[in-house]
Amino acid sequence: MVDTVSKEKRSQMMAAVHSKGNRSTELRLRDLLISNNIVGWRVNVADVIGRPDFVFDKEKVAVFVDGCFWHGCYKHRSIPSSNTEYWENKIKSNIARDKHVHRKLRCLGWHVLRIWEHELEKSPQNAIRRIVRKLNRDNPDLK
Ligand SMILES: [Zn+2]
Repeated sequence: MVDTVSKEKRSQMMAAVHSKGNRSTELRLRDLLISNNIVGWRVNVADVIGRPDFVFDKEKVAVFVDGCFWHGCYKHRSIPSSNTEYWENKIKSNIARDKHVHRKLRCLGWHVLRIWEHELEKSPQNAIRRIVRKLNRDNPDLK
């Protein structure tokens, strides 16, 4: 397969897709946490392994919001028809890294929660319920 896009151009494209994809889902969860009165979290936590999207320090809960494409969601993994091998490898290595980070955090006593982009879109209340359950807090508004 002939690659028609330069390496530089490709990494620009990837950076654009990556930040955009992550950002919108992150902001979505951020809004949900606020509207559900869930407090005690930090975003984009650089001082915790794997740089979780959200961290609840007190409860030691790390939350990752995973984009369906980049993290190889089992439902929505659609590999582009060009440069297929490249994308397959890229996504495979993302999945492997996710697993590695997950294990490391668990070893350090963190509770890890991964939320799919599609879950946030289709059933946000379900995602919130999962977070609350992990935090083990009472929230009478959530049934
Ligand atoms: Zn998905």
